Amino acid sequence: MSNVLVIAEQSRGTLRKATLSALTAAREVARRTGGGVSALVLGSGAGAAAEELAAHGVPVRLADAPVLAHPLAEAHAPVVAEAARAAGASWVVTAATSYGKDLLPRAAVALGAAVATEVLAIAGDGGEILLRRPMWAGNVIAEVELRTAVKAFSVRPTEFAPAARAPGGSVTPMAVAVDAASLGTRFVELQEVKSERPELTDARVVVAGGRGTKGDFGPLSALADDLGAAVGASRAAVDAGWVPNDWQVGQTGKVVAPDLYVAAGISGAIQHVAGMKGAKVIVAINKDADAPIFQIADYGLVADLFQAVPALRERLKAG
Ligand code: FAD
Repeated sequence: MSNVLVIAEQSRGTLRKATLSALTAAREVARRTGGGVSALVLGSGAGAAAEELAAHGVPVRLADAPVLAHPLAEAHAPVVAEAARAAGASWVVTAATSYGKDLLPRAAVALGAAVATEVLAIAGDGGEILLRRPMWAGNVIAEVELRTAVKAFSVRPTEFAPAARAPGGSVTPMAVAVDAASLGTRFVELQEVKSERPELTDARVVVAGGRGTKGDFGPLSALADDLGAAVGASRAAVDAGWVPNDWQVGQTGKVVAPDLYVAAGISGAIQHVAGMKGAKVIVAINKDADAPIFQIADYGLVADLFQAVPALRERLKAG
């Protein structure tokens, strides 16, 4: 029997949706090993997020203290380790978001746990758990077994359906013994990107541009606004300084799985495709009929994006 602890992610008391995908993965491990699932919410003023998570049928420990106000891995990791011990957890699971990627290795060290990151699926039988994770930009899927007494992994939120609401949850406060003065790191500033558009990783529709935009994201942004979409970009566009870093989709950017992904002026390099091939429908607009993006596109348009995108908007407006 293996108890599983989910580390939640919240911001200003709002639960991040990715946590519900981690909960689904945790339940899958528990189902296969016969254990129970509980969760941990950390923060300051995070009670609403804990209640929201509990509404998904899970017992939640709430570590609420000023020292946890900011997502500093150094402050959060000892609390995760303590909660894992209290829960008798032999698995610790979180979403592979910036927060999870930062926190999990440090928490795992504190627990002497082996770690698998960016898990896509859970396999194995007879109580044995095998974790499927991408290697080499997703060209190889490895199946790994963690052999330490406590095991930790992060999941790609796009690969696990968010857990549905369910009865039976609860919230229990836990004492936090972290002393702010003992920390070697200090929170200085959070520069938040404010946007009317949806968050890239949560968006139902993503309109993305690459080097082919030549730095003019105007037509793509207008299309995104028509569709209520987030705007994404290839690394070439980000490296050129045309758009912010957090728009980057791909191996070293964000992994997205929207219902619709429009790739305009993007060649379809494997490192880009690694971040968007989970999209349900892919539309590619590229001048070059041999561009690799057409190999994975459901709909391909060999065209100049500066003509095709405005024409597309006209057609959408005409209904
Ligand atoms: P290009 O490959 O230059 O393609 C531009 C495309 O635009 C071409 O196909 C061209 O035909 C088309 N085009 C030009 N003008 C027009 C027009 N007017 N209308 C329509 N089409 C037009 N890349 C990522 O995107 N994300 C990552 O996370 C990432 N991580 C990486 C990690 C590593 C370790 C490495 C080595 C590379 C990584 N890359 C990543 C870079 C990746 O290899 C490619 O260089 C990059 O994706 C190319 O971006 P692009 O498609 O915009 O540019």
